Amino acid sequence: MERTQIISWLTQKEATELNKLWTIADTVRRDNVGDEIHLRGLIEFSNICSRQCLYCGINAANSKIQRYQMSKDEIAECAQIAKELGYGTVVLQSGENRRLDVKFLAETVSEIKSKTGLAVTLSVGEWDADTYKLWKDAGADRFLLRFETSNDELYRKLHPDSKKGVEERFDTLRLLKNIGYEIGSGVMIGLPGQKYETLADDLLKFKELDLDMIGVGPYIPHQETRLGANIREFTLDGESQVPASEEMTYKVCALARILCPKTNIPATTALATINREQGRELGLCRGANIIMPNVTPVKYRQMYEIYPGKACIYETAQACNACITGRIESIGRTIGKGKGTSPKFAAKRGL
Ligand code: SF4
Repeated sequence: MERTQIISWLTQKEATELNKLWTIADTVRRDNVGDEIHLRGLIEFSNICSRQCLYCGINAANSKIQRYQMSKDEIAECAQIAKELGYGTVVLQSGENRRLDVKFLAETVSEIKSKTGLAVTLSVGEWDADTYKLWKDAGADRFLLRFETSNDELYRKLHPDSKKGVEERFDTLRLLKNIGYEIGSGVMIGLPGQKYETLADDLLKFKELDLDMIGVGPYIPHQETRLGANIREFTLDGESQVPASEEMTYKVCALARILCPKTNIPATTALATINREQGRELGLCRGANIIMPNVTPVKYRQMYEIYPGKACIYETAQACNACITGRIESIGRTIGKGKGTSPKFAAKRGL
């Protein structure tokens, strides 16, 4: 699909035309990744972060939140719960904590692998090649690193502590791929300062980077961030600003599916937050094939407030599982078995 065609879909307002886009995305999804929905148990193991991302509620400058770091035993216990609930993967997510003991994380991954055999995804930010290799050797399978926007000027505005801009993110994703990880990335929809052209470039970048996983969610302002508190200053005038809407998120989800047919695409928690009744289901019918139920202990969940009003912060892992299973059945889909490796990655590795 050409850039002009992507922009034309992104700016399309007619419901009948958009129904065609949903149908194409759903057909491509069915033909390439099937009807199974894979579940990934999300463990938000620490909200400590050294970085200053302007949109994020747990950025280092926010002194109003209580910081936490789970112990190895606590993390391993969450992984065990994920296994008992039938999930094939756990995702270990945290802020980018420069003081993190990298060996602690390697040992934790190793223990989870030996005790549960689950696939392990890491989402812990930018590190050097040796650290990524250490975690890979410990058994980590996948790595998520969102670039949030492919436009270097906007990226630098939103990440004032970035020295080399968005190219550094792309280089890191390529490095992770060379080390042998399945790689995932994504962007936020409707970031103040985001144009339709930029969003089209983001979508083309997903394809160019040959991602195994793509996560997209609407931008949800957080008052304790520089962006959330000064949103007007960053927002573009008139029609050129992409709205942070539910519909725009479905459009990007559907276009990502069409451009990257065999990639794993989650119906994100941010989507469930802006439409609690049907956000996940609609995402799953417009390109997505993954859900990441939270298995973090409830006492920590409220402290992992990257944006306010996040869905699923009071429910236990078991309650989340029951809710999500019901939602999947309600749209006639089935729960995936096994690790849910991206079909593209599996084909390349002969898995
Ligand atoms: S987006 Fe990630 S790196 Fe940036 S402040 Fe939030 S947790 Fe830290």
